[in-house]
Amino acid sequence: MTDAYTELTADLASVDPQIERLIDAEGRRQSEKIRLIASENYVSEAVLEATGTLLTNKYSEGYAGRRYYEGQQVIDQVEEIAVQRAKTLFGADHANVQPYSGSPANLAVYLAFLKPGDTVMGMGLPMGGHLTHGWSVSATGKWFNAVHYGVGKESGRVDLDEVAQLAAEHKPKLIFCGGTAIPRTVDFAGFAQIAKDNDAVLVADIAHIAGLVAGGAHPSPIGHAEVVTTTTHKTLRGPRGAMILSNAEHAKAIDKAVFPGLQGGPHNHTTAAIAVALKEAAQETFKTYAHQIVANAKALAEGLSSRGFDLVSGGTDNHLILADLTKKDIGGKPAAKALDRAGIELNFNTVPYDTRKPFDPSGLRIGTSAVTTRGMGTQDMDKIAEWIDRAVLAARDEKEDALDAIAGEVREFCGSFPIPGWHAN
Ligand SMILES: *Cc1c(COP(=O)(O)O)cnc(C)c1O
Repeated sequence: MTDAYTELTADLASVDPQIERLIDAEGRRQSEKIRLIASENYVSEAVLEATGTLLTNKYSEGYAGRRYYEGQQVIDQVEEIAVQRAKTLFGADHANVQPYSGSPANLAVYLAFLKPGDTVMGMGLPMGGHLTHGWSVSATGKWFNAVHYGVGKESGRVDLDEVAQLAAEHKPKLIFCGGTAIPRTVDFAGFAQIAKDNDAVLVADIAHIAGLVAGGAHPSPIGHAEVVTTTTHKTLRGPRGAMILSNAEHAKAIDKAVFPGLQGGPHNHTTAAIAVALKEAAQETFKTYAHQIVANAKALAEGLSSRGFDLVSGGTDNHLILADLTKKDIGGKPAAKALDRAGIELNFNTVPYDTRKPFDPSGLRIGTSAVTTRGMGTQDMDKIAEWIDRAVLAARDEKEDALDAIAGEVREFCGSFPIPGWHAN
């Protein structure tokens, strides 16, 4: 046995104590804070375990039974299980579990259906859409002709008449529905009708709400959208990754676009962890979790409204709340920074028709998936709303001591809700 080999069997703490300490510090941070970033969550120990395996050692370009390298006896089984579970859970004809993340998954859909310069329609980024739905700074906005719909100024909701009118005028080949800051239910049937009327392919991007869909807490796009893209790490609570679901007709085009069109070898350790997360998402307890996310968001929205927060669309149907701080006399960015100091982690966000700049917008985006995973319930949401309110007021009045006091209360509260994968030592 060479020394060089022996070194490879040492644990992280002895090989790289600097990184080991930072990972532990991040565990403590995730444990001691109330995490309200709407795209984040806590994965189970089983998902963490699958992610950290030697499946990372294997190259598997291609698909099960059709690979370019030998030695796929095990990987083929892992990927087939993940694909089967995805199809069963969502009721889809076809699933591709190889996209590295949500953005490449969406790019693969462009590659499958469009040529550069073709027209795509999606929700505008400042209205709640995603960069990859044709926003100008994204490759999808640079290489394709993008048209954007928004939300009503008063309603804060998508106006399908506007979508229909834009579609008839611009004749997009692809229409995206869904987004990153949409507090309301997406009307997949309504979008499907518009796509049909205009010979467009409807893509439902359910990155944020996939866990709610799987758990029956949001209507499913299957049967309405021919193509469904999703990340696996938001409400779905799997590893960082993505999936594309489709009807049988588009299966080949999607697979070809992901590989060899866009990617090389799939991340097999991630595929295994996706399979585990999909098994978890098929359990009864996951339905309870999904419905609790929505109940918590509604309770938190109520707690905030009653404290004078102005919520886009007036509330929420899902896991997400968008609060406009204009009436609180503070910008989203200083509020988010102060809340982070107070132990409450969320992100500043543009609100529809925002009059401030994107890097210092008027809003806060707040999500309840991570706190729900930790076991916090509706009874805890009013307390969180009160901390948010106190911290926002303290930020406005520049009272840093008050923020530190809240952080102490939050830390103590979080002590009753341990997180998977980290233990204080
Ligand atoms: C998060 C998100 C994505 C992108 O996912 P990444 O994994 O960050 O690339 C795409 N679409 C929507 C709607 C999202 O919310």
